[in-house]
Amino acid sequence: MFIAKEIQTAAYLFASILFILSLGGLSSQESAKRGVFYGIMGMAVAIIATILGQGVAGHTYIIAAIAVASVIGLMVARKVEMTSMPQLVAILHSFVGLAAVLVGFGSYLDPKTQSLTGAEHIIHLTEVYIGIFIGAVTFTGSIIAWGKLEGKIMSKALLYPGRHAVNVALLVVCIILGVLFAGAEGTSGMLYLYIMTAISSFIGIMLVMAIGGGDMPVVVSMLNSYSGWAASAAGFMLGNDLLIVTGALVGSSGAFLSMHMCHAMNRSFVSVILGGFGNAPAKGEAKAIEGEVTSLNHEEVAGLLKEAKSIVIVPGYGMAVAKAQYPIYEMVQTLRKAGKNVRFAIHPVAGRLPGHMNVLLAEANVPYDIVLEMDEINDDMPDTDVVMVIGANDVVNPSAQDDPNSSIYGMPVIEAWKAEKVIIMKRSMSAGYSGEDNPLFYKPNSEMLYGDAKASVEKLLGFLKA
Ligand code: NDP
Repeated sequence: MFIAKEIQTAAYLFASILFILSLGGLSSQESAKRGVFYGIMGMAVAIIATILGQGVAGHTYIIAAIAVASVIGLMVARKVEMTSMPQLVAILHSFVGLAAVLVGFGSYLDPKTQSLTGAEHIIHLTEVYIGIFIGAVTFTGSIIAWGKLEGKIMSKALLYPGRHAVNVALLVVCIILGVLFAGAEGTSGMLYLYIMTAISSFIGIMLVMAIGGGDMPVVVSMLNSYSGWAASAAGFMLGNDLLIVTGALVGSSGAFLSMHMCHAMNRSFVSVILGGFGNAPAKGEAKAIEGEVTSLNHEEVAGLLKEAKSIVIVPGYGMAVAKAQYPIYEMVQTLRKAGKNVRFAIHPVAGRLPGHMNVLLAEANVPYDIVLEMDEINDDMPDTDVVMVIGANDVVNPSAQDDPNSSIYGMPVIEAWKAEKVIIMKRSMSAGYSGEDNPLFYKPNSEMLYGDAKASVEKLLGFLKA
């Protein structure tokens, strides 16, 4: 059974509206669930309208492939930990990139497109060439991002002398190959396509390898944007309006998110897109850390909390790993009942996902009015009695402000050290995601409280309630 072209166009329009509503819904926590629902509906409409489109053959294979992929998707989604979401997102981006590459090759070899002539022919070849280029950069870049997030590849930036000149030279070679490709007869341009695919795959690897751990959030959202443009390019090659629109929606919203995150992290958008272009390489060794690390036990920290009037909690990736948000909120309620002013300070890139901490705190029913953004609370730090840093590290690292040789230099951070007392709750002295040591731990007003965040907070609760 096929549907008329007009019905398919109407269905595509409806799906596009649902995708726009979905993006709108995802802009706030209250409407996020509704946004996801719109997205699912839009995708269902899009898939059904595409399968039933005129001239689509092999329905049995298509349905079998969808069934197998749906089962795999369900299994992966059920198994994945919240802390591993960025890796999953990165690997899914790589699939979109690979799909664009395959569609590009398929479209070039398609006998129907071989009959195109004149401007139509050149436009088609340009779509194929650019689509494969963006797809290959997205594919390999996303795999490297996955490796860095999964800890399989070092998170520090891989910088080699003259890398920008090499990247520019490779880009020029791709442009020359593109001109040769456009002039090739029949399918004889395959060789140029192969070489360009290899080069763009290499560019994707090097662009992401050059980004340091602290800047990975921007890279993930940037690859999200690239995957959108790759899908859009595939839409042009296949003559599918919905894919063009959907790809453009993902591409532009991803680019907007990247710009937003660059702003939050005081990074240049262009620099991050170009693999750290314009970032001055560190001139020397990181500043030697002075001071001594001291620690307290749970009973001593509970004593400090009982005496404090104003308390700020800075959660980070460790809170997510330990799933400590529930006992933390119980502790907050106990402290608030005792008349203390307790608030949360959220850094825009704390955790491993944009909004990661907000999602976890909302899950534990923490009221929004005590969850403040970094910019809203930093000025209050000097008047705070105790800052509890729970499983956070990079987002409270003072090197970002005072060590030009640090890879996170320039990134705005929560100024925990300005409080009267800082308690840092983590399991060891190990570094955060950026791999940089943290001088905060050595400050005279800092005390370590070692242990898993959840177990530590539960122990503190025991002492606070005693
Ligand atoms: P960090 O990665 O800097 O530090 C987390 C700390 O948590 C570690 O030092 C670790 O120390 C501790 N920890 C781990 N497990 C536990 C546990 N069970 N109990 C207690 N502590 C634990 O996290 P931040 O949130 O401070 O910073 C986020 C970093 O991740 C930034 O560099 C950011 O750029 C990057 N990033 C952010 C993304 C985003 O979108 N938000 C995406 C990708 C990267 P120990 O092992 O000693 O316990």
